[in-house]
Amino acid sequence: MSSTASRLPLSQDELRFIEELERAGALVNMDPQRVPDGGSATVISCFDGDRFPDLYGFHRDFCGAHKGMNCITPVCIPGGPAVLSEHSPLRTSTVIKDLPIDWGAVALSKTLLGFQIKGAGIIKSTGHYPCAACRAHSLSPETMAELFVTGTDVLLAQLPKHLPQGAPSPKIVTCVHIDYFSHRKSGGRKLMATYKLLRQPLADVLGRRDQAA
Ligand SMILES: [Zn+2]
Repeated sequence: MSSTASRLPLSQDELRFIEELERAGALVNMDPQRVPDGGSATVISCFDGDRFPDLYGFHRDFCGAHKGMNCITPVCIPGGPAVLSEHSPLRTSTVIKDLPIDWGAVALSKTLLGFQIKGAGIIKSTGHYPCAACRAHSLSPETMAELFVTGTDVLLAQLPKHLPQGAPSPKIVTCVHIDYFSHRKSGGRKLMATYKLLRQPLADVLGRRDQAA
């Protein structure tokens, strides 16, 4: 386990939002019955070296334990699935001077290439809190969640156009990894956890927050 020296803590806003998602039932455990049999998986995530081992390890162990799926192809991009949306501020980054990169196109290309080489029964599109790449763009926790979901929409729209003829479309799941280290209560929740993010409860939470604003 990494030390906390390089780990951004959850903000109070992020913690309140996550706790609201938990109460609304938007964050649920992955259901082993819904993972396809055999094949391989692709995990799209941020490149955060403090959180990636836990996030990747969760998906590897989950798929391996429940479906014997041991080949998990990583697609690591700063911000993970938050870069995929056409309107994401993370999509095109000029953080490195004179080196603009379309991270959305890179993420999609890496996902497609991984699929062509390894095949994929399931794609785990996994955003995370807290995320330094998202924080660099001052994204609210609500906007981050919206970008995680719209990232899945991009995959759902784009993947079928690029699949080999007759190939079945992989299942695509939106997930969230949370590092609670900065707000962990003694004897309480896990240090880190990965959940499936459910759209309707998320939409309900976002709608209530819109009304309250
Ligand atoms: Zn990140």
